[in-house]
Amino acid sequence: MIWAIFSDVHSNLPALDAVLSAIDRIRPDRVLCLGDLVGYGPHPRQVLDRVRELGCPVVAGNHDLAAIGRLDTSCFNVFARQAVKWTSAELREEDRVFLAGLPLTWEDGPIAAVHGTRDDPAEFYYLQTVEHAAALLAEQPTFLGVFGHTHVPLAFVLRSNAVTLTFASEIDLSSAEKALVNVGSVGQPRDEDARAAFVTFNDTAKEVAIHRVAYDIDAVARDILESGLPQILADRLRFGV
Ligand code: ZN
Repeated sequence: MIWAIFSDVHSNLPALDAVLSAIDRIRPDRVLCLGDLVGYGPHPRQVLDRVRELGCPVVAGNHDLAAIGRLDTSCFNVFARQAVKWTSAELREEDRVFLAGLPLTWEDGPIAAVHGTRDDPAEFYYLQTVEHAAALLAEQPTFLGVFGHTHVPLAFVLRSNAVTLTFASEIDLSSAEKALVNVGSVGQPRDEDARAAFVTFNDTAKEVAIHRVAYDIDAVARDILESGLPQILADRLRFGV
């Protein structure tokens, strides 16, 4: 079975549409979304409409909960907080109901999904070290764990009791015991590659691929400025930071 997994759309409709077209061409059996549908970008309602139409499982991200007043934003930077406030005012009642209904974790078959980390999904920890990944992999109930939140695609792979970190775009997990994969970000990549990211997983061959898709950054940058959102949120998209 082929899975397509994406995360951190952040209200960027051109990026989401480019990724959904790429996913369509792959014709996966299952699609998953790891949250942060909104925040930062200018198209919250359109992104929520697209993802609802898809009907795929979605887990909640910190920006999704912040936008409906369910997460304290004191640890957000000033631009993120401004975007939360702007987004919150844009949401319709149906959007609030949808976001409020998202689970923090999801699992089925070979995959366990979360936005941050499964040791405390409501805390939205940033998984950035091999030590933290090793602790999570020890508790992981499935072969593959998928997450987002840092906007940097990478994988922690457990083989023969050792965890290694890789940034490779094709990852052969046939000899792995388990793995934890960050699927990167659709709408605000932060690995200095401005293209939208998503991941596919072939659960028979046990292969993960990180895909990158170019999209119309000028279009979303223009809409960010026209919405009155901070200019830095447009500028950073060009550099993938
Ligand atoms: Zn995010």
